[in-house]
Amino acid sequence: MMLSLVVPCYNEEGNVEKFLSETNRVFEGKVENYEFVFVNDGSSDGTYKKLKNLYAENSNVQVISFSRNFGKEAGIYAGLSKAKGDLVCLIDADLQQRPEVVLEMLDVLNSDEDIDCVTAYQEKRKENKLISGIKSFFYKIINKISDVDFVNGASDFRLMKRSMVDAILSMTEFHRFSKGIFSYVGFNTKYIPYTVAERESGESKWSFGKLFKYAFDGIFAFSTMPLKISTFIGFLSSLSSIIYLIVVVIQKLAFGIDVPGYATLVVLILLIGGIQLFCLGILGDYIARMYVQTKHRPVYILKEHLEHDNEEDN
Ligand code: UDP
Ligand code: MG
Repeated sequence: MMLSLVVPCYNEEGNVEKFLSETNRVFEGKVENYEFVFVNDGSSDGTYKKLKNLYAENSNVQVISFSRNFGKEAGIYAGLSKAKGDLVCLIDADLQQRPEVVLEMLDVLNSDEDIDCVTAYQEKRKENKLISGIKSFFYKIINKISDVDFVNGASDFRLMKRSMVDAILSMTEFHRFSKGIFSYVGFNTKYIPYTVAERESGESKWSFGKLFKYAFDGIFAFSTMPLKISTFIGFLSSLSSIIYLIVVVIQKLAFGIDVPGYATLVVLILLIGGIQLFCLGILGDYIARMYVQTKHRPVYILKEHLEHDNEEDN
C-alpha cells in the first residue's frame, strides 16, 4: 500500500524542508511506502528552489508547479490528480497539521475496512473569537440551506482511499469548494480530533476578505437557496405593494383621504429598487459562475511537473 501526501505550498520557503524531514522522522519504521506531492502554487519566494532541491535529493518527491497562484483549492485538485498512492492524505506545508496525526489517521483507517476517509477536526480553534464565531455561524447557515453536510472545524486535513480520491477528481467544476465536494461524494468518513500546532514559519494566507469570499463560494456552489430567498423577497414586496394600493383606494373612496404625496413615492421607489437590485445581484452571481464554467477554463495551469519515474512528463 502506498501513501501519497499532497502538500499545497504558497510561499512556504521556510517550511518545506522541515516538513519533509519531520515527516520522515515521524514515519520512520511506521510507514514504509510513501511519496510527497508538493504543489507550488505560484510562490513568489524561494519555495520553488527549495522544492527542486528536495526533488533532486529524494526519489519519493514529486513537484507540481503552477504558472501563477491559483489558490489552495486548485492545489488540492492538482495534487490529487498526480498522486499515485492507494491512500492519499491532504496536509498543509506549515506543520500546523502534524505528521503524527497522519499516523493516527492510518490506524483508524486500518481498524475498519468500511472506513473510506479519516478527517481531522479542530476541537478547539486557536483563533480570534470573532473569526471563530463567524465561522460557526457560517456552518449553521450553510448546513441549513444546502443538501450536503458540513462539519464545523473539519479541515482539509484528511486521509482518503483511492476510490474517494477518484470520485473527487471526477468533479471538474471550476469554482471548487473542497469541503462541499468531500461531503457531496459521500463515502464513509470518520472524524478524529486534533490540535493545530503553531505555524513553523511565515504567515497564514487567509485574510478576512479571503475567508468571506470562501464562505460565499461555499454557499453559491452548494446551494440555490439565495435564488429562492430572492424570489420570496420579490413576492413579499409585490404583495405589500398590492396591499398598499388597496388601502389607498379604500381610504380615498370611503373617507375621502388623499393619497400621501412624494415622500411615500420616494420611499417605495427606493425600497422596490433596492430589492430588485439585491435579487438581480444574486441571480447575477449564479450567471457569472455559469459563464466561467461554460468557458471550460482549466482549474490550474501547469508550468512544470517533476516526477522521478516519468521524466518525459516534464
Ligand atoms: N496555500 C496554497 N495556496 C494559497 C494559499 C495557501 O497552496 O493560495 C497553502 C499554504 O501554503 C498552506 C496551506 O495552503 O500549506 C494552508 O494555508 P495557511 O497556512 O495560510 O492557512 P491556515 O493554516 O491559516 O488555515
Ligand atoms: Mg496554516
